[in-house]
Amino acid sequence: MAKIVCVLYDDPVKGYPKSYARDDLPQLERYPDGQTLPTPRAIDFTPGTLLGSVSGELGLRKYLEANGHELVVTSSKDGAGSVLDRELHDAEIVISQPFWPAYMTAERIARAPKLKMIVTAGIGSDHTDLQAAMDRGITVAEVTYCNSNSVAEHVVMMTLGLVRNYIPSYNWVTKGGWNIADCVARSYDVEGMHVGTVAAGRIGLRVLRLLKPFDMKLHYMDRHRLPEAVERELNLTHHTNLESLTRVCDVVTLNCPLHPETEHMINADSLKKFKRGAYLINTARGKLCDTNAVVAALESGQLAGYAGDVWFPQPAPADHPWRSMPHHGMTPHISGTSLSAQARYAAGTREILECYFEGRPIRNEYLIVQGGSLAGVGAHSYSAGNATKGSEEAARFRQK
Ligand code: NDP
Repeated sequence: MAKIVCVLYDDPVKGYPKSYARDDLPQLERYPDGQTLPTPRAIDFTPGTLLGSVSGELGLRKYLEANGHELVVTSSKDGAGSVLDRELHDAEIVISQPFWPAYMTAERIARAPKLKMIVTAGIGSDHTDLQAAMDRGITVAEVTYCNSNSVAEHVVMMTLGLVRNYIPSYNWVTKGGWNIADCVARSYDVEGMHVGTVAAGRIGLRVLRLLKPFDMKLHYMDRHRLPEAVERELNLTHHTNLESLTRVCDVVTLNCPLHPETEHMINADSLKKFKRGAYLINTARGKLCDTNAVVAALESGQLAGYAGDVWFPQPAPADHPWRSMPHHGMTPHISGTSLSAQARYAAGTREILECYFEGRPIRNEYLIVQGGSLAGVGAHSYSAGNATKGSEEAARFRQK
């Protein structure tokens, strides 16, 4: 019997939903590159219901308990005395979502002698000290592709929202105003603008494809070049470094994982090399950016806007400067946890658990760390090391 600790975000303030806005989800079979959607033997949830919050339990309880395992589900993950800390001593598997991450630091891993696997129900395993997981032979897995397209849609929404000045204009409506000039004094069209993605993986490439019909000029920076046919089809300009991309782009979107090589890639120096008045969209990870450098760039006008849904730490404390900086379009970390995405990553988590308990290999595309080194997708997209430093700050958050 194994103990599984599953850290999920809180239910809605008004309670777990009794009904939903829509009755079904579209049926998808494959991701754009041909990868199949998750293939667990069965699921015990209704797709389209809220699975990522505590009462949703990722739809895992019935399956785990029927197989004799113990499932602990909690949102209490930070600070002294958290349920996560209390349960770690005999946990075999820890599951959490990047939206409400269980920061699996070296110190926590050391206090979990039975820990064998850390699962990200979603994409992005930077909340785990990957070096410590490698050193202890712990497997780290995530549900690659489950919400990549969801995030790409959010990037498009935020790009349009910032460039067209949507949020301030919406706010004039709710205040009872009709202040056209106030709304449009910062409003532009994206048509003809240059947009560049830092990383053209699953999300980055999807963003480029979605923005193409707006007649934007498309750029990307990645260590590996996309196939020539894709570059030609989208008329892409490839850049070998960040400066070359930011010098020419009006909109820059970050779509690479957070690992020691990418931490704080956006800082006071690199921001100087952006076009004045550029927009920066970051739905990848908060720590890709130096928090205060972003604020300063918005205040000086070097950036015309910043939007995204990722922060460091998470949840962000009430006084996090990105809550109050000018010209921002931030949301809490939600882009990858639409009800549509939840159905996919709940099924993917179940698939990973079935493989683990039945002694079958976990798909290569879901592996980040295995057998003491980076593996699968992790070996392609991550670098060894640790990006969890400072995560204890998450304990400062208090729910309003
Ligand atoms: P992929 O693995 O498909 O893409 C990641 C890309 O990043 C790869 O193409 C990789 O390039 C590139 N990359 C890695 N390091 C660098 C670097 N130093 N410079 C330039 N490019 C680099 O992942 P996804 O596109 O699905 O997701 C990307 C990230 O987005 C996740 O790791 C996660 O942090 C974030 N995310 C956020 C979500 C949200 O809800 N906001 C949800 C899902 C993901 P290469 O081919 O050269 O190795």
